[in-house]
Order: sequence, then structure tokens, then C-alpha cells
Amino acid sequence: MAAIDIIKRRLKEDRVPDVPDEISEKKKRPREVAFMDMNLCFPCGKCPEFCPVQCIEYLAPDTLAGRGVQPVQDRFQECIGCYICVEVCSLLTDYDAVRMYDADLVERLLGVTITDRKPDGYLPAQPYEEYFSEGGAPSVRHLGKGSRIRDKMNAEERAILEHERKRS
Ligand code: SF4
Ligand code: SF4
Repeated sequence: MAAIDIIKRRLKEDRVPDVPDEISEKKKRPREVAFMDMNLCFPCGKCPEFCPVQCIEYLAPDTLAGRGVQPVQDRFQECIGCYICVEVCSLLTDYDAVRMYDADLVERLLGVTITDRKPDGYLPAQPYEEYFSEGGAPSVRHLGKGSRIRDKMNAEERAILEHERKRS
């Protein structure tokens, strides 16, 4: 079994909503949405590959000064709250850059409304570095949730994940 299949199966067992098997689209308002820490994202490119709604993208060139390849961030208004990027970054890389944040908190922080559908037009991802990267106020990274399945893996699953992590 591939590492990503182990992650999806464990997330389903953990009753994380909306872990579609195929490429999908937002159909209801998520309770949480993902944000990447701009300083921790390497970026390895793994989470964009596995996001089931394909809403993770590299920031536009020169968005963050001094970075060659820009880190990734998700278009949070399309995020369905599935945790796959959190688990991929936590279990298949050395970076643990992603956290899930309560949708109500995100609405208050960013002055937005998170609805039950993706926006009509393309809204490029923004770094939101001050809120979702480690650091002093106004960072809320400490309120974000990380991996929820790490401690549930059996030995065989751990071996597969470790093999995949070392391969990349
Ligand atoms: S898996 Fe982690 S380090 Fe890799 S691109 Fe995604 S957020 Fe960045
Ligand atoms: S939680 Fe991550 S993988 Fe899932 S939809 Fe949101 S950005 Fe994509």
C-alpha cells in the first residue's frame, strides 16, 4: 500500500470529513482550513500533489523577498478541511509546516466569510505570514492543529511512511 493510501485510510477511520478518493470540489463549509507556515515550507512539492481539490499552489515569484523557489500556500476559500496536506507534510517530510485552523477564527483574522462553495473566480494564494507562521503576535500558529493520525500508525505503516520520507 502506498503511503498516501495509508494516510487517507487512517483519516477516514478518524472520521475526518471530506477525504474524497478522487479529485473533488468544495460542497460545504469546512470546520477548519489549512495554512502553511511560510518559514517552515521547504518547499518539497508533496502536498500540492495530493490535495484532493488542488487548491495548493506555489506563491507568485518574488512574493517573499529572499526566497528562490517560493513556498506553497493554499487558496483557503477552496479548502475542504481534509487534513491531507497536514499529514503529508508531517509524515512524509521533515518540515511539519501545515496546521489546520478553525474557520471562525480565520474569518475573524482575515475579515472574510468562508462559505459552502469555492469562489467563482480564481483568488491566488497569499502568504499570510504574520498569522500562520511561527513568531510573535499576531501569529496564531499555536492554535493550529497538526497531525491527528501520527500516533495511530502500526509498525508496518510506520515503515512504509519512513521509506517514503527517506526517498524524497
Ligand atoms: S509538504 Fe510541507 S514542505 Fe512540502 S510543499 Fe507542502 S507544506 Fe511545503
Ligand atoms: S486540508 Fe489541505 S489537502 Fe485538504 S483541501 Fe485543504 S489545502 Fe487541500
